[in-house]
Amino acid sequence: MSMNSQGRQTTPEAVDDIAAGVGMLGGRGLLQDEPMLFDAGREDATGTDWPEIEIEDDVLGSLTRDSIGLKGLTEPETVRHYVRLSQYNYAIDLGLYPLGSCTMKHNPRLNEKMARLPGFADIHPLQPVSTVQGALGLIDELAHWLKTLTGMPAVAMSPKAGAHGELCGMLAIRAAHEAAGEGEKRKIVLVPSSAHGTNPATAAQIGYQVVEIKASEDGRVDFEDLKAKLSDEVAALMLTNPNTCGLFERDIMAISEALHAVGAYFYCDGANFNALAGRVRPGDLGVDAMHINLHKTFSTPHGGGGPGAGPVVLSAPLAPFAPVPWVVKTDDGFDVVEHVGEDGNQSFGRLCAFHGQMGMYVRALSYMLSHGADGVKQASEDAVLNANYILARLQDVMTVSYPGGPCMHEALFDERFLAGTGVSTLDFAKAMIDEGYHPMTMYFPLVVKGAMLIEPTESESKDSLDAFADTLRGLVEKAKAGEVERFKAAPVAAPMRRLDETQAARQPKLRWRSSMANDTSAKTEA
Ligand SMILES: *Cc1c(COP(=O)(O)O)cnc(C)c1O
Repeated sequence: MSMNSQGRQTTPEAVDDIAAGVGMLGGRGLLQDEPMLFDAGREDATGTDWPEIEIEDDVLGSLTRDSIGLKGLTEPETVRHYVRLSQYNYAIDLGLYPLGSCTMKHNPRLNEKMARLPGFADIHPLQPVSTVQGALGLIDELAHWLKTLTGMPAVAMSPKAGAHGELCGMLAIRAAHEAAGEGEKRKIVLVPSSAHGTNPATAAQIGYQVVEIKASEDGRVDFEDLKAKLSDEVAALMLTNPNTCGLFERDIMAISEALHAVGAYFYCDGANFNALAGRVRPGDLGVDAMHINLHKTFSTPHGGGGPGAGPVVLSAPLAPFAPVPWVVKTDDGFDVVEHVGEDGNQSFGRLCAFHGQMGMYVRALSYMLSHGADGVKQASEDAVLNANYILARLQDVMTVSYPGGPCMHEALFDERFLAGTGVSTLDFAKAMIDEGYHPMTMYFPLVVKGAMLIEPTESESKDSLDAFADTLRGLVEKAKAGEVERFKAAPVAAPMRRLDETQAARQPKLRWRSSMANDTSAKTEA
């Protein structure tokens, strides 16, 4: 047993054996191998003792209850099953998580402590308003911070993720055009070629025609191309700033002016707000709607696909169309506006059953209050500094996609340094796993071939950044030295090797049938 560069346990000898095709890895040291529940469980095992049921009359007529053969485990086996599976996972609590565009920053434990206070954790969204004044006050306080940090007059709190926030902002934009009698005419949404896939998907989902704007040589929006595509048929532009290449959109003021001149709105994708928070207010840039990923910028957990939160700040022209519900401050405390049309509002409707992700609100506000306004500013400055440190430490061995200047909060490299080595971006990323690192974002943004997008965030110390940069430098050396096999075989030290991601996406096994339990070839019905 030895330690790899990040201190996770690996066995280099076993790694060599597996690379040479000898044997399976299985459990290593104290890291346990774990089969799936369907393979590990037993039909007669359960973590609960039920009393014998004596059924005299069959109340469901001819329908009788039968066993369907679900596998079970005892209580301690259940705990071990899930803890072992959790150890197959990688997390920000285990090490640096360089996934660009995702802002994988440390979630301070104070956030967790606050979110678990019974007054926040144990309330129900249908409780009478008079009994949840503190929670409503917290939502109002968080809304105040979001509006202040962005320089925007209103915020819709309920969206549950960035993409959901995009939907919210675009529905508000559509409602505003409809209210102005221009709903039919404005059918185009402009999206730059570097955009996150959720932007064009959102626009298309609500019926807009998506028109792509070219990228300029230096990785920004091609302003001439944008101007050529502007007309009174354009409903909005969806633009990320800093953009997905990690660069500030230099022409952003001219862009918002040109949009407003033709009556279009400016939707800003705020996923990269961690580069700007406390330094730049999007409201000052002419933004009309922007989602804020609390799970990125404000440190709430990304939750393995679980709850995020994507409040959307809105400019004065869009504010009247915000979705219900929202919190209002009255003389007696806080109240909730629940209905479209109440007090004459023009809300486009309701996005969520209730108020959004309360637990994430508590975490985000804890983060803000514990950092203070100066601390939030310092965090974004450090995030940018850290990304530039990575850029500086790697630019002589990896190809920088847009050289000639500093980056914002993420550093973008691409595959050109691997030319002639036989190693691809994918192979390089997989080899990082054997070194104990989660790969960076690969093949995104699409405007750069073989992209590798690294976002270290402000959470990392200089030592941690140096260890990471040294590891990547070592891998570059190995690729250049012709160690292709090592890259093609990677990852060999992980519990799982390369997965067939295409099959997993095309034929996901989402249904369990007892006859399927031991039949791994069974296909899921469409
Ligand atoms: C993360 C991200 C999104 C989507 O946010 P989710 O919270 O994952 O839905 C949209 N745009 C960009 C640029 C992002 O990085």
